[in-house]
Amino acid sequence: MDTKHQIIECPHCGHKMHIDLDYSNGDQDYFEDCTNCCNPIHLNLHINDLQHKLELNISSDDEQIY
Ligand SMILES: [Zn+2]
Repeated sequence: MDTKHQIIECPHCGHKMHIDLDYSNGDQDYFEDCTNCCNPIHLNLHINDLQHKLELNISSDDEQIY
């Protein structure tokens, strides 16, 4: 299993925390609860095959529904 240790910053409170990204399954879209404020953090993991890079987008879960 391929994992990558990453530090992310909570979009709600700015708390930094460590997560382990599992990039063996390709692109992922999931939620992680902040250990500090307990709000859900939306993580979007995209694997760039061409450049062998991980792209991680972090956003809060307060996006509007149209
Ligand atoms: Zn937080």
